[in-house]
Amino acid sequence: MDQLSAEQRETLRALLTAKIDELRTDIASLEEAVKPIAPDCAIGRLSRMEAINSKSVNEELLRGARRRLQLVERALQRADHPQFGLCTRCGRPIPFGRLEIMPESTRCAGCT
Ligand SMILES: [Zn+2]
Repeated sequence: MDQLSAEQRETLRALLTAKIDELRTDIASLEEAVKPIAPDCAIGRLSRMEAINSKSVNEELLRGARRRLQLVERALQRADHPQFGLCTRCGRPIPFGRLEIMPESTRCAGCT
C-alpha cells in the first residue's frame, strides 16, 4: 500500500483543523454547561436533580471532548511527519478511508 500523497495529507490537515475548531466550540459550550448550580437558583422546568444529572453527563462529555482535542492537536502536529499515517504498532500504512473518518488514529484497524 502507498504512503499518503501530498494531496491526501492536505485533506487530512484540513479535516484536523476543522475538527479542532469544532471541538473547541463544543468544549466552550460544555464548560458553560458544567458551571456550578446555585442552590437557590431558579432553573425553569428542570428540577434541581435533573440539572445535577445533566451536569454530570456534560462533565463526561467535556472530558471526552478534551481528550479528543488533545489527540487531534497531536495528529495535526504529526501531519507533516513522514511517519504520519503509519500504524504505530505494525508500521503499515493506515488506509486513507480510515484516516478520513478518524484522522487522529495512530493505529490500523487490525492493531486497534
Ligand atoms: Zn497496525
